[in-house]
Amino acid sequence: MLKLFRFLKPFTITILFILVFMFGQAMAELYLPTLMSDVVNNGMMNGDTRYILKYGAFMLMVALASSICSILGSLLSARAAVGFGRDLRDKVFTRVESYSLHEFDKIGTASLITRTTNDITQIQTVLVMMFRFLIYAPIMCIGGIIMALSKDKTLTILLAVVLPLLIVTICILAGIVVPYFKELQKKLDKLNLVLRESLIGIRVIRAFNRLEIEKRRFEDTNRDLTDTSIRVNKIMAAMQPIMMIFMNITTVAIIWFGGLRINENQMQIGDMMAFLQYAMQIMFSLIMVSMMYVMVPRAQASAVRINEVLDMEPEIIDPEQAQKPVKKRGYVEFKNVTFSYPGAEQPAISNITFAASPGETTAIIGGTGSGKSTLISLIARFYDVDSGSVLVDGKDVRELTQKDLRAKIGFVPQTAVLFSGTIAENIRYGKEDATDEEVRHAAEVAQASEFISGMKDGYNSVIAQGGTNISGGQKQRLSIARALVRRPEIYVFDDSFSALDFKTDARLRAALKKETDDATVIIIAQRVSTVMDADRIIVLDEGEVVGIGAHRALLKTCGVYREIVSSQLSEEEIA
Ligand code: ADP
Ligand code: MG
Repeated sequence: MLKLFRFLKPFTITILFILVFMFGQAMAELYLPTLMSDVVNNGMMNGDTRYILKYGAFMLMVALASSICSILGSLLSARAAVGFGRDLRDKVFTRVESYSLHEFDKIGTASLITRTTNDITQIQTVLVMMFRFLIYAPIMCIGGIIMALSKDKTLTILLAVVLPLLIVTICILAGIVVPYFKELQKKLDKLNLVLRESLIGIRVIRAFNRLEIEKRRFEDTNRDLTDTSIRVNKIMAAMQPIMMIFMNITTVAIIWFGGLRINENQMQIGDMMAFLQYAMQIMFSLIMVSMMYVMVPRAQASAVRINEVLDMEPEIIDPEQAQKPVKKRGYVEFKNVTFSYPGAEQPAISNITFAASPGETTAIIGGTGSGKSTLISLIARFYDVDSGSVLVDGKDVRELTQKDLRAKIGFVPQTAVLFSGTIAENIRYGKEDATDEEVRHAAEVAQASEFISGMKDGYNSVIAQGGTNISGGQKQRLSIARALVRRPEIYVFDDSFSALDFKTDARLRAALKKETDDATVIIIAQRVSTVMDADRIIVLDEGEVVGIGAHRALLKTCGVYREIVSSQLSEEEIA
């Protein structure tokens, strides 16, 4: 947790003020019982009304000052803690944005969400307590003991018995509770995971009638979390009556022994009342500290999880001396590239060599799992190669900054991802400052303008979160339009025509051809009709290139290609 305190720096002045206010409150509260004992001893005992009024008014003022300090202290504590939370969330989010896909796989989306929300809230809560009690509690405890001693030394022996007992009890309870707190955080993660999965997969769950099973899975996780929470809260709940018993017994003892001493004229009534209050103050401060003692480990567990996010170095980083990107060309070359996913036994792709130049269309075809998506994700450097190199415009992608590299690429992923917002906003995602004309043109080329104008608000129609209110084919076309509006040097289509009917597919490719005249186009497709006219077809099989060439040549030389073709086209069409 200490490591996270570096983010408190902007709040140094606020924290100083908090400490001053809390110091003020503590001092005022320590002063009050003494004042009271004066009023009782000198005023009440002698029936001196003027004395009572004068010192009573003074007491009121001290009490008021203490309240004001307390209010200001709380206010500033809340501000500093919430501000800290905001900054930390910002840092975590920025860090996560810089992650490459490896890091996402490692921590997991659900856990990343809990870490950015709940874990940071935990720390925030503890911070508020820390600001308020860190200086207040020790002053109250030590100050209380000193003041109690000054009132009556003999009675203080009583405290010497009670306080150690109290401390031991607190330590035992905390020792039981703390491990549970750490567990809670993990269980919350699990709950988030289950919830996310079942919400995202709701259609599948319905379709397969798995509602009951999902419900049970959620209930199990939920109950697990609840049980642990209840167990923790039971122990915490036991804490309160135990503390009350301690306090009440102490009160009785003080009044008992104090009464005896007053009877022997060794003590004044006012002093006994003051002593009683000091004893309460000391015990309260100990309880506060014990609360911190319980809360801190929980926040500590959260802090560890947050630090994990902050400290994880993204595997893909920009080179220190990045090469300047060359202007507008779009030449892509793979030199003997081999890549395997972490933990995988076999490389996903191996020994890939090919080159694609501007004005050319390169198609990639192959069975599912043959490594097509993997291959193109290397162009945008979503992953780094094991060996060999991927060159864009003659430069290794690792020598360019990710920003420069990706600015060259218009990427259409296999599963179309849209963001909540209007259609125009989604297309503009590809180029922020695109004019309306550019957006319209991109949509036209992507064969999307027809269905867009059919919608109620045209380009301003709102797309629901995840794009659930439009069809798969419509989503694909919008994500194609998003790539087109960029006018990049390299177009990468990962099976982006799969949800289109043949007619739309053909029209789209015809329009694309004009649009991408001087660009490098890389298309992954399942349909032979989509790849047939490409300048170069790469046939992948189990991560290896089994054939490169034009359609006609491949028909003669490549068995795998011939198989794919004959499964889709009739004999006449092939001839
Ligand atoms: P294609 O796009 O040709 O269907 P992919 O390139 O998606 O195939 O996958 C190639 C291989 O890599 C598959 O065997 C798959 O199991 C594996 N793979 C794909 N993505 C990942 C990933 N994120 N982590 C680990 N293995 C993966
Ligand atoms: Mg794929």
